[in-house]
Amino acid sequence: MSYVDEVLERIIAKNPAEPEFHQAVKEVLESLRPVIEANEETYRREALLERLTEPDRQFKFRVPWVDDKGQVQVNTGYRVQFNNSIGPYKGGLRLHPSVNLGIIKFLGFEQIFKNSLTGLPIGGGKGGSDFDPKGKSDREVMAFCQSFMTELSKYIGADTDVPAGDIGTGAREIGYMFGQFKKIRGTYEGVLTGKGLAYGGSLARTEATGYGLLYLTEEMLKCNGHDMKGKVVCVSGSGNVAIYATQKAHQMGAKVVTVSDSTGWVYDPEGIDVELLKEVKEVKRARLTEYAAARPSAEYHEGRGVWSVKCDIALPCATQNELFLEDAKALVANGCIAVAEGANMPTTLEATEYLQQNKVLFAPGKAANAGGVATSALEMSQNSERLSWTFEEVDSKLQGIMVNIFHNLDDAAKRYGKEGDYVAGANIAGFEKVAEAMIAQGVV
Ligand code: NDP
Repeated sequence: MSYVDEVLERIIAKNPAEPEFHQAVKEVLESLRPVIEANEETYRREALLERLTEPDRQFKFRVPWVDDKGQVQVNTGYRVQFNNSIGPYKGGLRLHPSVNLGIIKFLGFEQIFKNSLTGLPIGGGKGGSDFDPKGKSDREVMAFCQSFMTELSKYIGADTDVPAGDIGTGAREIGYMFGQFKKIRGTYEGVLTGKGLAYGGSLARTEATGYGLLYLTEEMLKCNGHDMKGKVVCVSGSGNVAIYATQKAHQMGAKVVTVSDSTGWVYDPEGIDVELLKEVKEVKRARLTEYAAARPSAEYHEGRGVWSVKCDIALPCATQNELFLEDAKALVANGCIAVAEGANMPTTLEATEYLQQNKVLFAPGKAANAGGVATSALEMSQNSERLSWTFEEVDSKLQGIMVNIFHNLDDAAKRYGKEGDYVAGANIAGFEKVAEAMIAQGVV
């Protein structure tokens, strides 16, 4: 049996009930086969794949807090420190009822390669809780965040592990967590990114993932003889990534005609009104029905359906496993030329394969959404320097990083005879640096 198959089998046996983690490891290792086969003896001796797929450590802890009725609630908190061979652990905190250890491990594993791809010195980690901030008062969110950080603060620090936002963790949650870290540890350090501008945050961090997604997509199109101008785009999600992806797509001359949330989706043939979307989602934290009610050109539909709309470019920006094989078939039938993942692993393995077989340009999340973590690393640099850069400085660095990521993965794919396979290219380019660092640092 090949080394990859042996490791995959062992992971499934050792980590039952973690299907998302199995899926992420399988996707990465499958596409690394040519690299692993070329170095099999060394990697086997070093147990490189076994070490790479076993987190350095993982924390699971109780998060008790008191709700507005005086009732004690209990959630579960997680932090998985996956790999710090190229820098301090770095990765977001997800607050969503679906969070469990397998989800956090899949995200932490993906983060290793994404962070490596940015070219910046950051390792891979991820955390979160099954707490749902939706429908909670500000005081309840603060109570949860303080309790969560009381435990998490034992494991993190500006030079060890620097968490950030993710689904359910926005500026409000980061603020409460930063305050509690400072209170407990008594140090003012860049321990979290995604902070408010008044206390060490970076300009352009809010926009970074969505903008970065479009910078990379534009470069991928350009290198394949297309551009963004005049293209019709379908976006899923209506959170941080979706909003700023929509904004940048419009700035590039494309037209985004859909957005979605966990209950339904909007089709707006005139183009999504980003200011209205921000008002509904960022200010009122309301459902998309409110967007449709305020916008005569928009239709609201319950359930799923974004990928049934005819488009040139699809940008899944909501969550994992939200673009299935039947969606990929609909996109291909409608003449879609490119799919770029704003979310983490939104496209199932079967859907990805179908898109690639049908010559749809496909940019995987670990490359396409790396703008968020790259800008977080720029926030860490600014915190260390005790300086703040302008929006334009950060945005232009972000653009350079995304263009560079695309060329790194394009080159890596070509080196292994997989031209145009950007999934393989991203995994190979991300893996090579981490593997080299792990071997150089010995058996630790
Ligand atoms: P937000 O919480 O801001 O938004 C998430 C969006 O996805 C919301 O519109 C939400 O709908 C929708 N959504 C969540 N779960 C589901 C579901 N099960 N079915 C359908 N829609 C769903 O998160 P972000 O925009 O920050 O993150 C989106 C994705 O991008 C995630 O995969 C995240 O890991 C990834 N990502 C984010 C980065 C960042 O910088 N923010 C960086 C890199 C990756 P509703 O409003 O109903 O909850």
